[in-house]
Amino acid sequence: MQLLSYRSGAEVRLGVLEGNAVVDVQRAAEAARVEVPNDMLGLIALGDRGLDLVEKALATGAGHVDGTVRYAPPLQLRKNVFCIGRNYKAHIEEGFRARGQEPVFPKYLEIFSKPPTTLIGHEEDIRWDASFTQKLDYEVELAIVIGKAGRRISADRAAEHIFGYTIGNDVSAREVQQNHGQWFLGKAMDSACPLGPVIVPSRYYPNAQNVRLTTRVNGEIRQDSNTSDMLYNIGRIIEILSAGVTLEPGDVIITGTPSGVALGMNPPKWLKDGDVVECEIEGIGILRNRVVEQRD
Ligand code: MG
Repeated sequence: MQLLSYRSGAEVRLGVLEGNAVVDVQRAAEAARVEVPNDMLGLIALGDRGLDLVEKALATGAGHVDGTVRYAPPLQLRKNVFCIGRNYKAHIEEGFRARGQEPVFPKYLEIFSKPPTTLIGHEEDIRWDASFTQKLDYEVELAIVIGKAGRRISADRAAEHIFGYTIGNDVSAREVQQNHGQWFLGKAMDSACPLGPVIVPSRYYPNAQNVRLTTRVNGEIRQDSNTSDMLYNIGRIIEILSAGVTLEPGDVIITGTPSGVALGMNPPKWLKDGDVVECEIEGIGILRNRVVEQRD
């Protein structure tokens, strides 16, 4: 099941992608005479019962949306996106190599965040302010969507707290990230967190820790790795983060990026006006966004 949010006039509605077609969940639910919330956070709050209701609604075959839809971000953010820093070995090595240094692996998991104003959906533009950064970069990442609240969640119970998975692009301004000590400013630009296109609930996505993730820029493959290469796996990430932070339904955690970012290239191919970035994760889909320079 591939859940999405789409725009219909001024409204954002809950949909399911079936092949190339979108089914409007509310309309299908009416045909099935069941009640399903019309937004992703409402659905997440219902847990497994919500997914059972969506299945029942889809079984009617009703609710197909005509034509192509405009995607919205798959869910609304109530707080910052939690972000895991350097979590793939080859990406750590390329970062040090770019600065002419020997790699030193972090002793503790690195965690930062991106504010809700970074969020954009599939096929929405990454707005590039060239007066802020000349070193704009991409990072494909597996994104976890939390389903059930918890604190001090152990790694072996982490799965119970996951609603599903989507794709994140941790768009980064490299010189800002490096100049300011903490990474926040260089990762927090408006539109610097493309997310989507769909959320696949974890009960339909059993192998999140062993899926291919790739990035293409204008069709050229830049990143190509597997989530099995993470240094800290999904369970450990949730354990470490929730040791002090209460995780809540709808929270999003992006889990780090593999090698192949522009920073690691010689010379770096920074993102520029008109570039099309496609982040793909097996079984979830392709998150596509165009870079558009903002001139004012
Ligand atoms: Mg990242």
